[in-house]
Amino acid sequence: MTSPEEFLSYCKEWEAKIGAFIELKDDAVIAAELKQADTGALRRLPFAVKDNIAVKDLVLSCGSKLLAAFRSPYTATAVRKLEDQGAWIIGKTNLDEFGMGSSTDNSAIQRTNNPWDQSRVSGGSSGGSAAAVAAGLVPFALGSDTGGSIRQPAAFCGIVGLKPTYGAVSRFGLVAYASSLEGIGVLADTTERCRQVFNTIRGKDPMDETSLAAPPAAPPLYGKADPAVIGVLSAESIAKAIAAAAHDEGDANLEVAAQAALLEDEVRCGFETAKKNLAALGYTLVDVEIPSLKYGVPAYYTIATAEASANLARFDSIRYGKRPDWAENPDDLIDKARSDGLGDEVKLRILLGTFVLRAGFQDRYYLRAQRIRAGIRRNFEALLGDADYNNTAPQCDAILLPVFPTRAFDRGPSALSPFAQKAADLYTCCANLAGLPALAFPVSVEGGLPVGMQVLGRAFAEGTLFNIVNAYEKAHPFPHPSGYRSFWPA
Ligand code: GLN
Repeated sequence: MTSPEEFLSYCKEWEAKIGAFIELKDDAVIAAELKQADTGALRRLPFAVKDNIAVKDLVLSCGSKLLAAFRSPYTATAVRKLEDQGAWIIGKTNLDEFGMGSSTDNSAIQRTNNPWDQSRVSGGSSGGSAAAVAAGLVPFALGSDTGGSIRQPAAFCGIVGLKPTYGAVSRFGLVAYASSLEGIGVLADTTERCRQVFNTIRGKDPMDETSLAAPPAAPPLYGKADPAVIGVLSAESIAKAIAAAAHDEGDANLEVAAQAALLEDEVRCGFETAKKNLAALGYTLVDVEIPSLKYGVPAYYTIATAEASANLARFDSIRYGKRPDWAENPDDLIDKARSDGLGDEVKLRILLGTFVLRAGFQDRYYLRAQRIRAGIRRNFEALLGDADYNNTAPQCDAILLPVFPTRAFDRGPSALSPFAQKAADLYTCCANLAGLPALAFPVSVEGGLPVGMQVLGRAFAEGTLFNIVNAYEKAHPFPHPSGYRSFWPA
């Protein structure tokens, strides 16, 4: 390690340009940590934590004005496990308010810029964590992924991002957005670092009844890299299916959605490069289709907003959140606190969630979305095998698909509209609906910006995904933005 002063000035210079951190520890604390002797498996490594994950005494704003001054009374299990291994927290990172968004521009606190091009977004909602890793300020960071919030910013910033199997990592200490879809995961500079961090934070936790250990029949996390069959999802077929539905139903919104699902040229180019490179590494590629995927986004937003409307009820300024100076009565108090404290995107989703859960309408929206969700899971299980490891002859070991139809977008007139951003969640939200692990990784740089793809696997088959991506990284080392320096031993 170079001198703490050298790192601190590097860190300051980058942070002034990208704004990844909502709270960064003091220079003196960072310098002291950097000088500490080696202990534990994650010796001396600093890490960043998305600001919707609890760390005792640090801010827990969730990117919201309502919680900007809130400090957590306890620490999330995933964070504690890392600290137990000798890693230390350097700060809390920016995010879209409560994890709702794809750019981090929905943060009420600040903007985060992409280290590759500061006029562009870092992606979201874990944009601060992704930017901090991509700029070399930390070797890894924790994020949360409800519908793509780790993988999409990882792809935008050119790093690795793991959304683990649902339940593989404890959610204790993660501020809930959509509990049945989300989990804590890892953003890292290298595949092997990502694997090591995941290995540290996974496992059953008595504080989270939905957490569980990998079944004995699942492939080991550190297993031999066997030859694998990779299913390749045809992105075009999905965009076509949505366009056909738009035509049949004469729905203009569906037409916009079909347009948004189309890959931009550079991403299509990256997809082709990834296929070519994986084939050259000896993987067998087969074409696969997931017919139900065309309904993925509507199902995701129905379920996510329904759960969000219930989860966010606690932010009423009585239990949590900034309390208004004056109110007529308790209802008025809650009204004032939420009107003033929550951003437009959050309000939109709470309204949508209460709409789909209205008495008498649940059949039409919520239950229908749950049926689509079951269909998507069955489609994936038919290809990859089931979560209980009863089906022993799956057709493929992993599925390769894009992360997002575009590279990091800018904020100018060509920026993606909020509706198009949601429609573009198609490729990420299916892993959350099915509860499956997915690992995003940079496959190439096109026009000066990184392009990411993801491999999606059977429940608890993270080891298989890491093996594939590690082989890719060895043959095609991951790129870095200009001005990047690596301070962290592998
Ligand atoms: N873009 C998705 C959304 O806005 C994903 C968010 C997430 O994974 N937290 O809901």
